[in-house]
Amino acid sequence: MFLSVLQSLSEAAPKPVWYAVGALLILLLILLRYAVLSSAGYSLGLALGRWAPWRRLQPRPFSSAQISREIRDSVVTVIVFTGIVGLIILMKQAGLTAIYDDPLHYGAVWLVLQIPVALLIHDWYFYWMHRLVHRPPFFEPIHRTHHLSTNPSAFAAFAFHPFEAILEIAVFVPLVMVMPMYSVCLLAASLVSLSYNVYGHLGYEIMPRWLAATWLGRLLNKSAYHNQHHRTFRYNFGLYTVIWDRLHGTLHPEAEQLYDRATRRPDG
Ligand SMILES: [Zn+2]
Ligand SMILES: [Zn+2]
Repeated sequence: MFLSVLQSLSEAAPKPVWYAVGALLILLLILLRYAVLSSAGYSLGLALGRWAPWRRLQPRPFSSAQISREIRDSVVTVIVFTGIVGLIILMKQAGLTAIYDDPLHYGAVWLVLQIPVALLIHDWYFYWMHRLVHRPPFFEPIHRTHHLSTNPSAFAAFAFHPFEAILEIAVFVPLVMVMPMYSVCLLAASLVSLSYNVYGHLGYEIMPRWLAATWLGRLLNKSAYHNQHHRTFRYNFGLYTVIWDRLHGTLHPEAEQLYDRATRRPDG
C-alpha cells in the first residue's frame, strides 16, 4: 500500500524532488515506528519497575546519557534503513524483485506462511552475522557500538554502528529478489522485527510463563536472554529464536534459570 503510493508518486514524476520526498516519507515512517514502539517499551518498563520489580533483568538504572546515546545511534540506523528501503522500492519499480501487490497472487497459504518464513531466514542470517561481528577484527570497529549498553533500554533497539545497520537488514535485498512477498506482508515483517528488537532490549522480561512453557515459547528468544548477551558478550546470539543457539551450543547455561527468576514472583 505505502510502497504502491511511493511507486505511483515516482512514476508520475521521476524527478529528484520526488525521490527526495519519497526518501523523507520513508525516513519519517521508520523514525515514527521506532519512536512509538521504543517509547511504549520504555514506558512499559517504568510501569513494571513499579508493579513487578522482580521482572527487572539488571538492578542498574538506565542513565539519561545512555538513553541519549541509544537514541542518537538509532536515528543514524533509521537513516541507513531509509537508504535500503529506498533501494528495494527502486528495485521493485525496475522489476528486479518478487514483491507483489495482489495479496492472493500466490494463494492464501503462501500469504500466511511468508512472514514466518522470512523471519526464520532473517533469524538464521542474523545468528551467523552476529557471531561474525563478535570476532576480533569486527567487534571493536562495528559491533562495539551496540554493546556500549551492557544493560540496554528499549531505545537500544536500533542502536547500531552504521555498517552494522546495513548488515542487519542487508539480507532482505536478495530475499525480496527471489522470494515472492506481498508488499503489506513485507512491511508487517519489518514491524514484527522492530517489535521483537524492542522486546529484546526492554531490560524487563514480559514473556508469560504459560507461553514460555509451550513448544513455540521454548523456541522463541527472550528478553532475559538478550539482556544476558549484552552483559556477558559471549552467549545468546539469536534474534527471534534460540534454534541456532541451541543447535550450536551458544545458549548461556543459565539462560533458562534467568528467565525463570525474572518471571516468578518472589512470594509466588
Ligand atoms: Zn552482540
Ligand atoms: Zn542488543
